[in-house]
Amino acid sequence: SSVMAKSKFEYVKGFEEDRKCLPNCWIVVRIDGRSFTRFSDVHKFEKPNDRRALELMTRAASYVMEELKEISLAFGTSDEYSFIFRKDAQLYNRRRDKIMSTVNSLFSSAFVFHWTSFFGFVKLLYPPAFDARVVLYPTDANLRDYLSWRQADVHINNLYNTAFWTLVKKGNLTPQQAQERLKNTLASHKNEILFKEFDINYNNEPPLFRKGTTLVRKLVQTPPDNKLKQFIIPLNVDIIGEEFWKENPEIIG
Ligand code: ATP
Ligand code: ATP
Ligand code: MG
Ligand code: MG
Ligand code: MG
Ligand code: MG
Repeated sequence: SSVMAKSKFEYVKGFEEDRKCLPNCWIVVRIDGRSFTRFSDVHKFEKPNDRRALELMTRAASYVMEELKEISLAFGTSDEYSFIFRKDAQLYNRRRDKIMSTVNSLFSSAFVFHWTSFFGFVKLLYPPAFDARVVLYPTDANLRDYLSWRQADVHINNLYNTAFWTLVKKGNLTPQQAQERLKNTLASHKNEILFKEFDINYNNEPPLFRKGTTLVRKLVQTPPDNKLKQFIIPLNVDIIGEEFWKENPEIIG
């Protein structure tokens, strides 16, 4: 620190890199659970979608947004969350390492901190961890495509997983047989298996599972004086089409 005199060792500080995120670009930080195939197994997550786990992820992501005000939107599914910083974000002078590590650490510790609120008596058996990456997108269209990519992924994975686990749980197939059955099938074919053999209309599955969770900031009038207060609101809606962006113009504007 500054109170100490410079030592002969101090030159090592010069080896540090301070990579800055390119100005004017959208900064996306995506975190993803480390080996959550194992973590979900050890903690007996419901398959294919454990609602408690998804809600805990969203609680942790909300905390990140409460702390870091320059995040305008977050999108989550499974064991991942993407945080979108405004193009003009100034956090840590846009230093990449600081931004990425702080997001990841806030998220990870909040995930542990709030565990019991969602899992009750299910004990947390070991410390979970997350990896993180930063991606910069120079155009609004790139950012929209990034988010569309993540949400399209939710659809592809969830349709597959819903079909797979239905074949296993209700169709009494072994996991190997279910995998074989779904090999090379189109989306329409998976829908058909669910509908014809199990009376499941995929479109009636919970939006939380089909659409992932989008966290946005909203000003809401609060009683008694109708003051505007900011809330972080989870939505399970389509963000690929135009409607969401027309209703929430402040996110990209
Ligand atoms: P930044 O977010 O920039 O790191 P900071 O407040 O954490 O801000 P540091 O330079 O990292 O600043 O200093 C950490 C501070 O935490 C120290 O000033 C010290 O007062 C306090 N601190 C950390 N560990 C201990 C400890 N074991 N005992 C007492 N104080 C501690
Ligand atoms: P890596 O460390 O490379 O990310 P991983 O095992 O975490 O490895 P992912 O591709 O991230 O691999 O997949 C996460 C896994 O966690 C999924 O396969 C899924 O089985 C499980 N999982 C995550 N969230 C849930 C949930 N809410 N309900 C059920 N299973 C979940
Ligand atoms: Mg991964
Ligand atoms: Mg993972
Ligand atoms: Mg993942
Ligand atoms: Mg410190």
